[in-house]
Amino acid sequence: MTFGATLDKLVRTARGLPVPVLHRLSEAGGVALTIDDGPTPDATPGILEALRRHKAVATFFVSGERAAAQPELLAAMVGDGHRVCNHGFAHLRLDQLDEAAVAADLDRAEKVLGRARPAPSPYPLRLPFGEGWRSRSLHRALLAWHSDVRIVHWTRHAHDWEIVGRCQSSADLGHECRRAAAELTASKGLPGAILLAHDRPIDATHPLSGAASVIFIEHVLEMLAQAAIPTLPLRVQ
Ligand SMILES: [Zn+2]
Repeated sequence: MTFGATLDKLVRTARGLPVPVLHRLSEAGGVALTIDDGPTPDATPGILEALRRHKAVATFFVSGERAAAQPELLAAMVGDGHRVCNHGFAHLRLDQLDEAAVAADLDRAEKVLGRARPAPSPYPLRLPFGEGWRSRSLHRALLAWHSDVRIVHWTRHAHDWEIVGRCQSSADLGHECRRAAAELTASKGLPGAILLAHDRPIDATHPLSGAASVIFIEHVLEMLAQAAIPTLPLRVQ
């Protein structure tokens, strides 16, 4: 099955679920760059600097726990004009929690985000680990929590969280980040895509994970600029 056919199947499956699940943008004039798991002191400042240099916009699906520890970085994301959205407080598998625990984790995260920006409506949510978007019980729990919620999945990722595991040196890091960025921005189906990248992935223990996030996103932005593909704010309907 081709990638396109697989995606179409996923979208059709998602349509039968109560909470809308976004895999692509409704507009095809650019891409939405989504960056999960921040803010972190070793990656967020470099990512924001790269976004500024490229006049690009991103949507950060932030960790409530990390945002609570780094409120100035959360404020910097908002101050630079990027969207900050809920990715849970403690990065738990929401499909493994009961309804009350789902609501408690998401409320706790929104309380932190709410100090930096008004709550959006409709309300975009990215599920930790991307898990549970096909779970009917999780859909019910999410609707009980917020009637206007939207699950934002993605069109593509390039396993960016695995980059550092393949690297022995900074030269390796540059090469591997470039290769992963080329995979993420490959031309087929790019306009309208929701791209997934990470601000130091939540489970990353390698000391170069923060640097890898910045270098990877730099390469992604350069490749999008070379292809004349703009980054778009993530709009959900
Ligand atoms: Zn995550």
